[in-house]
Amino acid sequence: MRYATHVSELIGHTPLMEVTSFPLPKDVRLFAKLEYFNPGGSVKDRLGKYLIERAMKEGKLQKGGTIIEPTAGNTGVGLALAAIAFQIKTIFVTPEKFSLEKQSLMRALGSTVVNTPTEQGMEGAIAKTKELLKTFPDAYYPGQFQNPANPDTYYEGLGPEIYEAMDGKIDIFVAGAGSGGTFMGTSRYLKEKNPQIKTVIVEPEGSILQGGEPRSHRTEGIGMEFMPPFLDTGYFDAIHTISDEIAFKRLAEAAVKEGLLVGSSSGAALEASLLEAEKAQPGTHIVTVFPDSSERYISSGIYQEAGGHFK
Ligand code: PMP
Repeated sequence: MRYATHVSELIGHTPLMEVTSFPLPKDVRLFAKLEYFNPGGSVKDRLGKYLIERAMKEGKLQKGGTIIEPTAGNTGVGLALAAIAFQIKTIFVTPEKFSLEKQSLMRALGSTVVNTPTEQGMEGAIAKTKELLKTFPDAYYPGQFQNPANPDTYYEGLGPEIYEAMDGKIDIFVAGAGSGGTFMGTSRYLKEKNPQIKTVIVEPEGSILQGGEPRSHRTEGIGMEFMPPFLDTGYFDAIHTISDEIAFKRLAEAAVKEGLLVGSSSGAALEASLLEAEKAQPGTHIVTVFPDSSERYISSGIYQEAGGHFK
């Protein structure tokens, strides 16, 4: 008999799938790590588990304790999942614009969700978290936007999983960045293995990596209003800034062409991967990450907006 005894044991070791239905130059191959196979449905389950384990090991968090964290939703779901085994209470601060499905999932896992105004962005959620911490002085604040445990999660998990599944035959790694933890940790691991690997970061229009002013966008989970301290620009071998429109179009295509039901950040990662593929030499292997599924964005109308594929 082979079975898990806790849901957090099911995190990681997600499938890697070759994407074959999009036009690619001859002998250029594209692979996607399907992170929506995690039990909480996103790449951030890895982070939730790692943050809780590390905080407990360091004595910063105990069984029965409380966590307060600002999140667009997926980190909240990941933390809430991992918290269950230790009867840890979770309070999440989420700007109201983020998907209702993600907010419902956090609540379904027993979390309290506090909303902040959309106009204040993630910085507003961080400020509210700090205010709440005064009311809950014993609560633990993981701080995904500054905690080096965030990239370490992906250095220890996603990076090795990708490298091993590809037998080391990887030339370009493409990932979207919200906190930048996924991109940074995975890129650091891959470049340690092989400094020739090109690491490509993806953001939506309205994010700051190419010097733009922060403004609102509808692609969820990626995009920055400020640079997290652990993000090292030395790893930005290329930056792609993708519009919401193109990201939505690509996610609709991923559904009908590949049967991959992914979210908008995956659509942006797919577009950036295809742009990299256009310039790539024959024999190039590109690996990207599809962080979550489309199911948590259905109510926001992503498919309708993508041009009626689902009429
Ligand atoms: N896509 C989605 C849907 C996400 O929720 C996140 C996490 N915010 C990311 C991509 C980017 O992950 P990271 O925070 O590690 O940059």
